[in-house]
Amino acid sequence: MQVPLLRLQCGVNSYDWGKIGQESAAARFAATTAAPDFSIEAEKPYAELWMGTHPSLPSKDVETQRTLLDLVQDNQALISTEVSERYGGKLPFLFKVLSIQKALSIQAHPNKKLAEQLHAKDSRNYPDDNHKPEMTIAVTPFEGLCGFRPLTEIVYFLNALKPLRELVGEEAASQFENAVKGAEDSEDSDVKQKNKDALRAVFNTLMQSTPEKIEAATKDTIAAAESSPETFAASNGFPVGSPSSPTELAAIIRRLNGQFPNDIGLFVFFFLNFVTMEPGEAMFLKADDIHAYISGDIIECMASSDNVVRAGFTPKFKDVETLTNMLTYSYAPIEEQKLEPVDYPYAVLNVPAYSSGSSCLLYDPPIEEFSVVKTDLNRTGAKATFDGLAGPSILICTGGKGKIRVANKSEEIKEGYVFFIGATAECIIENTDGGEEDERIFTTFRAFCDLTGKEDMANGN
Ligand SMILES: [Zn+2]
Repeated sequence: MQVPLLRLQCGVNSYDWGKIGQESAAARFAATTAAPDFSIEAEKPYAELWMGTHPSLPSKDVETQRTLLDLVQDNQALISTEVSERYGGKLPFLFKVLSIQKALSIQAHPNKKLAEQLHAKDSRNYPDDNHKPEMTIAVTPFEGLCGFRPLTEIVYFLNALKPLRELVGEEAASQFENAVKGAEDSEDSDVKQKNKDALRAVFNTLMQSTPEKIEAATKDTIAAAESSPETFAASNGFPVGSPSSPTELAAIIRRLNGQFPNDIGLFVFFFLNFVTMEPGEAMFLKADDIHAYISGDIIECMASSDNVVRAGFTPKFKDVETLTNMLTYSYAPIEEQKLEPVDYPYAVLNVPAYSSGSSCLLYDPPIEEFSVVKTDLNRTGAKATFDGLAGPSILICTGGKGKIRVANKSEEIKEGYVFFIGATAECIIENTDGGEEDERIFTTFRAFCDLTGKEDMANGN
C-alpha cells in the first residue's frame, strides 16, 4: 500500500473581510503549493485557506491531482472504517487559516436539530443539515467578540453610553436593570435562568431597532468617540478588558463603524465579551454561542459544515429572528470562553527538543469531530515522534522549516505546506532550519479526529 502521507494543494477564497495581498497569511500559505494559474494579487483580499474534503473548496493531492475526498472514498483505511462509517466517507472536520482585516459578521451556528430544521425550511441560506462547533487558535494577535458579557458590564454600558440606552429604550433598559439587580453574579440556577430571560428580552429589543434609530444612535456614538475619546463611555467602574480603556474603546468603535457604517453590530458590541488572544491562545464556540471575529490571523477547526446564522456586520442575508431565538444567553467572563491547552501525551520529544523547551500542546474541545495539536520545535535537530492516531489528520506548518516522515517517506516542510496523514500512521517531524546563527522555531498545527474514548460523547450539543 502507498505510504499515507500526502502533500496537499489547498485553495484560498476571497471574501472582502480578508487581509490584502501579501499581508494575508492564508494567501501566502496557499501560494507555497498553488496551482500553476494562481498568483497573489496585490490589491485583492484573501480570507480563508481551506484544508479538507468540503466540496465547496476541496484540497488536492499534489502528486496525483486527485481530490482528497476522492482518495479517502477510494481507500477507507486512510480515515479508518469507524470514521468513514460515522461521517459518510468524508473528513469530519474542516481545517482553516483565516486572515482577518475587517470584522466578520456577528453570528452563531445552529445545533444539530436546529440545523436540520433550517436546512429543510431554507436550503439556500442553510446549505447543509450539520451542526458547526468551531475552535479558534490565534497565530497572530487576535481581537473578537465572544458570548455575552457579565451582566454588570451590560448594565454599566446601558448607563455610561446614552445613545445605547436611547436605542434600547428607557423601558426595556430599566426593566432589565431591575430584573438582574443584586443577582448579577448569582450561581443559583433558577436565578440564572431569570437573568437569561431578562437578557433575552433586552437583547431582542435592541435587535428590533429600526434603521433610522440605528443611524441616529450611531451618529451620537461616533460624535462622542471622536470629540473626547478619553471619556468615551467612561464612568466609575469602567469594566477592565472591555477594551482596556475608554480611549481604546473609542478607537475600536470608530474602526468598526468605518467598516460597517450604521450597523446594529456597533451596539451589539456592548453586550458581548471583547476578547483578545495572543498567539497560541484559543477559544471554543459551542453550538448557539454568539461571536464575531474582528482582526488577526487564526487557525480554525470546525465540524464540516457551512451553516451560519448572521445578524450584523455583514452585507449577507441576516436572520435576526432565528438568531435571537437560538442563542443560549449564557453570560460569563472572557476567561471562561477561552480553551486552555494541555500537554499532548502521545508524542515523544528527543533531547534537543526537550532541552530547548519545545512543546506539544493539545486543544481538545468537548466534541468528537476534532482536536488540534500545536507543536513548537525550538532548535535545529529538535524532533517529535507521534504515535499513530485512530483517525485521519491534517498538518500545516505556520513558521520555520523542517522534515516530516511517515514510514519510509520523508518530505520537506516549511511555512504554508500542508500534509494529510492517514489513520494509524506514526509520524515524525523535525526542525531542520538554518544553523547556530539563525535558528527559528518550527511550528505546526495538526487537526485530527480520533473517536477512541469518545463513543458516548454527545454530538456537539
Ligand atoms: Zn463562526
